[in-house]
Amino acid sequence: MSDRCLAIIGGGPAGLFCAIQAADAGLRIQVFEKNRACARKLLMSGSGQCNITHDGETRAFLTHYGDNGSFLKPALLNFQNHDLVTFFSEHGVQLETEPGGKIFPVSRKAHDILEVLIRECSLAGVKIRSEEPVIEVSHESGRFLIRTGKDSLYVDAVVIATGGETYPATGSTGDGFRLARTLGHQVTGTGPALTSVNVQNYLFADLSGISFADLPITLFRDGKKIRTHTGDLLFTHTGLSGPGILDFSRFIRPGDLLKVSFVPGNDAQKVNAILVELIAAAGNRQVKTVLGKFDLPERLIRKLMEIAGIDLELTGPHLSKKDRTSLVDLITACPFVVRSLGGPDEAMATRGGVALGEVNPKTMESKFLPGLFFIGEVLDIDGDTGGYNLQAAFSTAMLAAKRIRMIEGQNLSSSSK
Ligand SMILES: Cc1cc2nc3c(=O)[nH]c(=O)nc-3n(C[C@H](O)[C@H](O)[C@H](O)COP(=O)(O)OP(=O)(O)OC[C@H]3O[C@@H](n4cnc5c(N)ncnc54)[C@H](O)[C@@H]3O)c2cc1C
Repeated sequence: MSDRCLAIIGGGPAGLFCAIQAADAGLRIQVFEKNRACARKLLMSGSGQCNITHDGETRAFLTHYGDNGSFLKPALLNFQNHDLVTFFSEHGVQLETEPGGKIFPVSRKAHDILEVLIRECSLAGVKIRSEEPVIEVSHESGRFLIRTGKDSLYVDAVVIATGGETYPATGSTGDGFRLARTLGHQVTGTGPALTSVNVQNYLFADLSGISFADLPITLFRDGKKIRTHTGDLLFTHTGLSGPGILDFSRFIRPGDLLKVSFVPGNDAQKVNAILVELIAAAGNRQVKTVLGKFDLPERLIRKLMEIAGIDLELTGPHLSKKDRTSLVDLITACPFVVRSLGGPDEAMATRGGVALGEVNPKTMESKFLPGLFFIGEVLDIDGDTGGYNLQAAFSTAMLAAKRIRMIEGQNLSSSSK
């Protein structure tokens, strides 16, 4: 082993996996972890069951990281979901795919995943320095000076794998963003992602628990339409949740307007025409009975009529054009003004992070500071629910390790000449 050193800051899935994969590069590897135990967030993932990745082609994967999927293409092609499955099965943890595509350990224990990572680090001679947060990293004459609460040391390469800034109790408190800035890297605006939204003057609290499949949700800001997302939606006590909202939340800000259509595939004009026809054919039936034809939950129909100020006993022939228009608007574009997003203790990921333009997507190395790497959630990458974040952590870790092995290989061959 050479006397060259690699410091990995953060003992989460990205940091530990990078250490394992870089182990045969021949340098001394130390993982600095601020907590007593590594990877607390990994243990919470998938409610402790660890939804480690997702089934499907890489091309489909790339669509699950908001607007930043293309940065991950080299990482996800180099180390794909099936490579991750193979790695764990070769190390004694079998994985299985749920009907919707989520992949979990058969045991449903995140702990089994962590056990492999810790064991392989130990077998590879990686030193894990727990309860040793890195406070500062500086770059001096081609080497990096690492300062922890207990020690200062020079290393030849540094991997920043400190995660994001949500669930701070797990150790992810945004330290990596600060370290990146002091090393000259830009950090794009960070905030909560994979979170529910709280709604101003929310009128649906008594419908909490009712969920809907595949509803189109349109986001407006300052009167302008920003984008539409389709996904499952859940009413909560304070607003909206469900995978459709969680995956969309990276784009949502307080004050935004969300409009939800409860009748996917039908615009207001079409719904109005259908309603006119249904009422004409329904004789003296009540409006709420006619609305049942749209396959909406009865409690939602009552709520929408209540909001529109329409008597629940009103019969079809007595529905005014104005009230019909209000109903159609609520069915096709029900408005929700966002009061706030879930806070750091609720958001499962961080949007924003180390700016991708300054990191080489083929190596995860800084574009202007050779030997400095960023992997995992510290990057401006956040995935949808379904295993996309952990796959990104493992794939970016693998790419950085590959580059470190290459650099060390070159160093060895030039020193032996
Ligand atoms: C409740 C919950 C459930 C989730 N479920 C899933 C899921 O099922 N599937 C999925 O794909 N994703 C899931 N995620 C997201 C996923 O867990 C993260 O994206 C992933 O853990 C990121 O890995 P990472 O190694 O980059 O960072 P982290 O896992 O956050 O690890 C970073 C590590 O760095 C350490 N650290 C931070 N600062 C310092 C410092 N200054 N010095 C030393 N150490 C430091 C931290 O203590 C931590 O151990 C979930 C997240 C949460 C909160």
